[in-house]
Amino acid sequence: MDKNEVQLILKQLKINPNKKLGQNFLTDKNIVNKVIYFSELSNDDIILEIGPGLGALTEELVKKVKKIYAIEIDHRLYSYLNKKFSNFNNIEIIHGNILELEIPFHTKVVSNIPYSITGPILNKIFYKKEPPIGVLIIEKSIADRIFISENYKTFSRISIGTNAFINPVSKLTISRLSFYPIPKISLSLIKIIPNEKINPFLMEKDTIDFFLKFIAGIMPYKNKNIVNALDLYFKTLNRSRYTKEEILMILQKNNYDNKKLFGFKIEEFIEISKLFYS
Ligand code: SAH
Repeated sequence: MDKNEVQLILKQLKINPNKKLGQNFLTDKNIVNKVIYFSELSNDDIILEIGPGLGALTEELVKKVKKIYAIEIDHRLYSYLNKKFSNFNNIEIIHGNILELEIPFHTKVVSNIPYSITGPILNKIFYKKEPPIGVLIIEKSIADRIFISENYKTFSRISIGTNAFINPVSKLTISRLSFYPIPKISLSLIKIIPNEKINPFLMEKDTIDFFLKFIAGIMPYKNKNIVNALDLYFKTLNRSRYTKEEILMILQKNNYDNKKLFGFKIEEFIEISKLFYS
């Protein structure tokens, strides 16, 4: 699908791309090819596609895999896709909101996602004990946070959250001109694979939620020493359970130095969150 084709179909469907739904359609065949290349598809693959849009990626995926679940929120696109793929029996197009649906089992997520809900998508799809492989086009600034080994300046709660579950393997910057309409933000194509071993603390929804809340709470203080960061975080909670002295004691007892947050490893963040889980 090139730009003319995308514009023509949108016109026929009387669709004005909806900014709120992050509708930026792929118009560059080279990028479609790169996504497919990154995906290393096989005929055992069960694919989840989030926001298939006009099916620029879907039409390539459908020829190569066992099954696709394509979840689209816009009913006009949903009906269009249903017709477009009516000849294929390995695709199920689902009308709904990715954040609200129960998602069928899948081995890979391949998507140019709606950028405005990247955080919630990562949370729902990848922060779990057996995350899928992901080949995603996302906002470049978020991609940079996921690839922490490149630059510690971009180290953030997304860095810790994602890297607790997945291993980032490839990243490619993509021109904004590859989409219609042209997005305001820069984009990257990334590939992420599940961690070989995920910390046993992160096997339950309950402890995962605690861990994510914990790192979201302390990372605003990433330039502070951990005792201060924890103290400041606990003070924001309704009833703080730990005094500064107690925090220091708990950390010392477990052999953690009182150094700046960005000096800790992902595994250490998980273990430290566990110390304060109750
Ligand atoms: N993947 C297509 C379209 C990308 S635009 C392409 O690359 O061309 C993002 C798509 O996600 C749009 O089709 C939009 O309608 C859809 N979308 C937005 N929010 C969604 C949600 N919460 N659940 C499912 N789909 C959503």
